[in-house]
Amino acid sequence: MFTRSRRNLAYWFALSMGSILLVFAGVSYYLSVLGQLGAFDRALYQKSKAIAAGATVQFQRGQWQIESEDVPWMGGDRLSRNSGLAYVRYYNAGGYLVQFIGLPAPLRLDPTPGFQTTAVDTGQDNADQPSLWLRQATLPILRNQQLVGYLQVAEPLTSIRESLDRVRLFLALGVPITLGVIGVTGWFLGGIALQPTRQAYEQLQRFTADASHELRAPLAAVMSNAQVGLMASADSAQQRLRLEKIVEIAKSMSALIGNLLFLSRQEGPLDPARLPSVDLVERLRSLIQDQMPHADTAGLTLTSQLPESPVMLNADPELLQQAITNLLSNAFKYTPAGGTVQVRLLAQPRTVVIQVEDTGIGIPAADLPHIFERFYRVDTARSRQTGGFGLGLAIAQQIVAAHRGRITATSTLAQGSIFQIELPLK
Ligand code: ADP
Repeated sequence: MFTRSRRNLAYWFALSMGSILLVFAGVSYYLSVLGQLGAFDRALYQKSKAIAAGATVQFQRGQWQIESEDVPWMGGDRLSRNSGLAYVRYYNAGGYLVQFIGLPAPLRLDPTPGFQTTAVDTGQDNADQPSLWLRQATLPILRNQQLVGYLQVAEPLTSIRESLDRVRLFLALGVPITLGVIGVTGWFLGGIALQPTRQAYEQLQRFTADASHELRAPLAAVMSNAQVGLMASADSAQQRLRLEKIVEIAKSMSALIGNLLFLSRQEGPLDPARLPSVDLVERLRSLIQDQMPHADTAGLTLTSQLPESPVMLNADPELLQQAITNLLSNAFKYTPAGGTVQVRLLAQPRTVVIQVEDTGIGIPAADLPHIFERFYRVDTARSRQTGGFGLGLAIAQQIVAAHRGRITATSTLAQGSIFQIELPLK
């Protein structure tokens, strides 16, 4: 599924970027042609103007003649080599050829002033080089405000063609290579973009599998109790025991579902500006009061070490209480009778630290990094005995994270554990 999505992402990325690249390459090529042709036309125009200005137009033998000795582009009746010109032609005002230098000229021409691109046959019978492309400028020649003829000058477009050939070659090689790079980049970016979705998906799958697994065992117990109850003779004491068992299991399932719903609802950090200011000292004092009976039942001593003055913090009091209650109930569950559980509150300049320390069975070092994961239990048998689902610490961590704090644990086997919640004051 993810490979297909990734391929699709790469495909659409390559398609969109490729289209942009092709349009960009096309426009660049077009602008390059326009720019080069413009520069070429300007140079050709300058040459034509120099020729027109330098040419002496005389009326000889009943015709206007063009003399061009003092023109730098021409030498006698041949074009000088460095002129770079293909031909220079002079037509009279009626459009009849008067004189030409360079390539042979048609006798009669419709000499429209301006620039034209023409192809002339070079006489080479070669399909690869069929003809010579020329850029031709036709200028009217005026003497004393009177049109006396037209000067037509042409220059081969070889230099432009060579330069455009180079641009085309560059594009022909560059565009496919860039498209390839875009495709690979798209694939790579697709992988990065899908990473969080993939992780969330895998987490959800694991979570769903774990949750269904957790619910399956109590459901089976409910089923078997109910079935046995239906089959058995109506011994009311027995029936009552079975019903009590079903109620007990249903309560535990309800607690599990409540935990699961809590974990799925409460995601992301809370906005401190919307949270009420809470006095942690007072909250902890009342919480410890509430928990005293549970500690007594477990045969434990619950003590506290709290500052005298209030410690104010923007927090959701219910959630924070839930997190600390989870730590306390773990401490009660995993500390043998006769042990001690202590709650401490340490106010520091930038943070406030809440510690729950017990003298219980401790957590093996190998398990410590995992205890905040959902459904993780150090010892399944032990936890089942104590009625745990492995969600208490995950919930506590989620609550602390919602308050932009962090929760850590240190523990020594058979000696006890310390759970610490650190919350930023601002
Ligand atoms: P559970 O509901 O199973 O207690 P938790 O998420 O609260 O799940 O805790 C995860 C595991 O961490 C527990 O199964 C237990 O093995 C271990 N643990 C948590 N707190 C303590 C503690 N104070 N002392 C020893 N082990 C603990």
